[in-house]
Amino acid sequence: MQALLKQYFGYDQFRPLQEEIINHVLQKHDCFVLMPTGGGKSLCYQLPALQFPGITLVISPLIALMKDQVDTLKACGVSAEFINSTLSPQEVSRICALARSKELKILYVAPERFALRDFQTFLQTLPISLIAVDEAHCISEWGHNFRPDYRNLSILKQLFPTAPLIALTATATHKVREDILSQLQLQNARVFISSFNRENLRVSIVEKKHALPKLLNLLPQYRDESVIIYCFSRKETEALAEALVLNKFKARAYHAGLENNERSRVQEMFIKDEINIIVATIAFGMGIDKPNVRLVVHFTYPKTLEGYYQEIGRAGRDGLPSECIMFYTYADTRKHQFFINQIEDTQLRTQALQKLNAVINYATHRACRKRYLLKYFGEDLALNNCGSCDICIPSKEAVTSAKPLQTPVKSGELNYNRILFEQLKKLRREFANEAKVPAFVIFGDTSLQEMAYYFPRDANTFSQITGVGAKKLALFGKAFLTLINQFIEEHTISAIPALQQKSSTRITKTAKSSLAFCNKTRELLLRKLPIEQIAKNLNLAPTTIIGHIEKMFDAGEKLEVDYLKPPAVRYEAMKAAFQKCGTEKLKPVFEYLQGKYSYDELRLVKTLLKN
Ligand code: ADP
Ligand code: MG
Ligand code: ZN
Repeated sequence: MQALLKQYFGYDQFRPLQEEIINHVLQKHDCFVLMPTGGGKSLCYQLPALQFPGITLVISPLIALMKDQVDTLKACGVSAEFINSTLSPQEVSRICALARSKELKILYVAPERFALRDFQTFLQTLPISLIAVDEAHCISEWGHNFRPDYRNLSILKQLFPTAPLIALTATATHKVREDILSQLQLQNARVFISSFNRENLRVSIVEKKHALPKLLNLLPQYRDESVIIYCFSRKETEALAEALVLNKFKARAYHAGLENNERSRVQEMFIKDEINIIVATIAFGMGIDKPNVRLVVHFTYPKTLEGYYQEIGRAGRDGLPSECIMFYTYADTRKHQFFINQIEDTQLRTQALQKLNAVINYATHRACRKRYLLKYFGEDLALNNCGSCDICIPSKEAVTSAKPLQTPVKSGELNYNRILFEQLKKLRREFANEAKVPAFVIFGDTSLQEMAYYFPRDANTFSQITGVGAKKLALFGKAFLTLINQFIEEHTISAIPALQQKSSTRITKTAKSSLAFCNKTRELLLRKLPIEQIAKNLNLAPTTIIGHIEKMFDAGEKLEVDYLKPPAVRYEAMKAAFQKCGTEKLKPVFEYLQGKYSYDELRLVKTLLKN
C-alpha cells in the first residue's frame, strides 16, 4: 500500500484513518467516512481502485470538479475518466468503449446521468469493483445540499450487490448520517469518523471596525496566494470587489445572480490563478476544490457554525498553514436577525436564532475557539492549547498585525527559499498552461516548497519530495531539476537540509503537518546550536523555537537537548519555582523569582522539564 501511495500519488504517509479505511474497503466491506474537508477522502477510494481488478465507479455531484479530479489522477498516471453533461455524445461513447476494454480504473459519473435507466443498464455490463458516493450528504433532505438526483442512488446496492460501497462526506449531523446509511442501504457499514480539528487552519476574530482598511492592510501579504472573502449580499460582494480592484488587487465578485457563463469564467480565473481574490456569497465554494487557498475572510459573519466550518474548510486543503479571519460586529447581528424574524414557521425561526446565537458565542467568548467549534460538532479537543486560534496564540504572529518582515515564516511552514519558490511556480505555470490544467494538477504548493527547501539535485532525491510519484518524476523531473541545479550554481546555497532525514523522522502521535515546520529546528538542535542562534538562522523569535521543542516533546520525540540547560544553579532555582508554583502559567513563577529570570529562560526550563 505504501508503495502504491508513493508510486502514484508521491506521498510518504497516510493521513489519519486513510489506511484503516483503505484496508476495510479492500476486504470488500461497505463503509461510511466522515472526514473534514481536506482530510483526504478521495484517496480512500482512489488507492483501492488501483488494487481492484475492475472499475471503481465514483458518483460526485460537482460537474465542475470532475475534470480537475480526473486531470489530477491522469497526471499521477491513473487511468480515469468522467461522464457528465459537458461531454458530447461522441466523447461519451469513447469513454464507454474504454470502460468496456477494461483499461479504465476510475470512472466519475454525475448523479443525473446515473438516473438514466439506459445508463444504469450499461453500467451493469461493466466489471464494477467498487462504488464511491462522494458528498454523500446530498442524498438527504435534512442536509443543506439536497440533490434530488441523489435519491436514485438508493438502488445502487440492488444493481451492484457484490461491489463494496463507500460513502463519503464532510458534513453530516446525526440525523443526516442515519439518513445516508438507510438511503444507501448501508445498515451494516462500518462508520469511520476522523477528528474535525484542522490544525493547519488558524482561526481568529477581528472587530469589524474600519474593516476595509484592515483588509487592505492584510491582503498585500497574499499577493500571489488564493483568497476567498465571504460577504452578506450580492451587493456587498460587488462593492467590496470594486474597492479591492481600485486598490490594485486581482479580485472579482461571485454570486448566484451572475450569469452562468460569467460565473464559470470567474471560477476558472480563480482556479487558474489569473485572479487571486474571490469576493463571494456563500454560493461560492461547492464547485471548487482548490487546494491552496491560504486565506478565508468572513467580511460579514455567517449565520450558522455549520456554514462557517464548511467555508473555512476551503482554506488549506493541501495541509499548509492557512488563515481564517472573521470580522465581527453587533450591527451584523441585527442584519441576520432581521432576516430570521421573517421566517414564518415558529420552529424554524427558533432554530435559526439558536444557530445564530452559537456563532455569536463563538465570536465573543474568551476561551479557545477551536475547542468551542469542535464541541459544537460533538468533539472534545484533546489539547490544552489548540495552537491555532487567536485566544491560544494571541501573539504578534497574527496576520492582522504582522511585522513588516513578507520573508516571514508563518507558523507551520518550511523556511523555504522564496526566490526559488517563485521560479518553480513559474515553471509549474508553463507546464499547466501547456496541458490546459490548473497549476495544482502539476504539483501542489507543498511539493514546490519542499523543493525550495531541500534542493533535490538528482532524480533520486527529487522523488523523495512529497507529491512526486513515478509519472510526475518522468514528466517533470528533468525540467525542475535543471532549474534547481542552475539556481544552486548561481546562488551560494549553504547547509541544504538532508532529504533522507525527512522520511526517517516519522511522527505518529501528532499529525505530521503540525510538526513539519519543526524540521529545521530539529536539524539545528542536532548541530547543538544555542536557541538564540537557531532563532537567528531561521528568522524566528526564540520563543517560537522553544515552542517547536515543546511540540516535538509533546509528540513523543526524543531529542538530545541537555546542552540547552542553563547553568546548574539557575536551572535548579527555576525548577524549584515551577514545583512550587506549578507549570500552568509563567507569570507566578516569574514573580516568585522576583523577575531575576527572563520569560524565555523560564519557558525553556518549563519545556526541558517535560523531557
Ligand atoms: P477531501 O475530499 O477530504 O476534502 P481531498 O481528497 O481532496 O480531501 O484531499 C485534500 C488534499 O490532501 C489533496 O490535495 C490531496 O492530494 C492531499 N492528500 C490526501 N492524502 C494525502 C496524504 N496521505 N499525504 C499528503 N497529501 C494528501
Ligand atoms: Mg472531496
Ligand atoms: Zn485555541
